[in-house]
Amino acid sequence: MTLEQQDKHYVLQTYTRDYTNFVKGVGSTLYDEKGKDYIDFASGIGVNSVGHGNEVLTSAICEQAKNIIHISNLQVIAPQAKLAQKIVELSGYDMGIFFANSGAEANEGAIKIARKYGETQFENKRYKVITLEHSFHGRTITTVKATGQESFHTPNFSPYPDGFSYEKSVADVYHAIDDETVAVLIELVQGEGGVQPFEKEEIQKLAAHLKSKDILLIVDEVQTGVYRTGEFLASNLYEIEPDIITLAKGLGGGVPIGAVMTKHKEVLSAGDHGSTFGGNYLSTAAGIAVLEVLKPMYDEGLIDETLLYFSEKLKVIATNYAQLFEKEVGLGLMRGLRAKSAEMQGNIIKACMDEGLIVLKAGRNTVRFLPSITITKDEIDEGFKRFEKVIASL
Ligand SMILES: *Cc1c(COP(=O)(O)O)cnc(C)c1O
Repeated sequence: MTLEQQDKHYVLQTYTRDYTNFVKGVGSTLYDEKGKDYIDFASGIGVNSVGHGNEVLTSAICEQAKNIIHISNLQVIAPQAKLAQKIVELSGYDMGIFFANSGAEANEGAIKIARKYGETQFENKRYKVITLEHSFHGRTITTVKATGQESFHTPNFSPYPDGFSYEKSVADVYHAIDDETVAVLIELVQGEGGVQPFEKEEIQKLAAHLKSKDILLIVDEVQTGVYRTGEFLASNLYEIEPDIITLAKGLGGGVPIGAVMTKHKEVLSAGDHGSTFGGNYLSTAAGIAVLEVLKPMYDEGLIDETLLYFSEKLKVIATNYAQLFEKEVGLGLMRGLRAKSAEMQGNIIKACMDEGLIVLKAGRNTVRFLPSITITKDEIDEGFKRFEKVIASL
């Protein structure tokens, strides 16, 4: 039985998979079983924030695994408390954190906090959450319903929880608010929906309006968080103070972890929420190590340097191949090129794989780039060399 046959026989086929079998990773280079190398411009969909085989991360994981991997949340967990402190201090917001295992779970926690806030803080019950079209918030029944893409709300999984509605633009949110609205949930750069950033001014204006109405602003930073946009949080870049922020993808460098943080620290009380695995020794030790790698890089201006370098290379490609791409989108190390058709998007991604370059797809025909934050200039050069070779041949 080949690996592909084994996968197809025993694993539920919920993904349209590529069958390249990677066996080794070093930094932002992956190797398949035949020894062919690939430049990784995807970092496991923004997860491998410090690349593959990072010494600080892998030794932290190994050391922690040799001692304690897991003890329940009924005991205090020292690395969990330490990671919480680090995240809060880096964010600059006075918040408390609950740890989960994924982005969807972090968003579930955010929605629970908002719902309880809406139940307990007002005379009438507030429970409605407004999200945006082209958003993506996860795959649980509730977060899929929070996701503003009709194709996700298939009747196959209905009925869905009530109280979610979607607006076309930030400007439309104002009119959608009613006296049962408790929160607005947004990504500052829509990742899955096409690497689409919102304007800083319109977000700041919305944040101020929501504050004046006592409506919670929930920022889904599952993809934008942990230096992806150049700042620790995209909320820092946009200079806003959300009520609730969720994190996941890049936080554990590949070890599953999610987090929801809020300034409304008193809303959830004992018994309101929980997780067996959330914030265990292993995942939080990994989170600490990731921040120990990235924080000094940020302080030394190295992250800025990387994203500028990546930007400039991408800009050259977008300009030279304007016949293939509508426009360049994104910010920081979260970038995309909008292909002129879905077919072209698919062809580019597949041809890149053959050429030894991993890129991602995203909504609105976007070819998406989510390199690790630690990617080197040489890897960026080599990746774009391969990318240009692919698109020049189309
Ligand atoms: C990936 C993603 C999620 C879902 O995270 P999972 O870990 O897959 O549950 C939620 N929101 C955003 C913005 C994401 O990019």
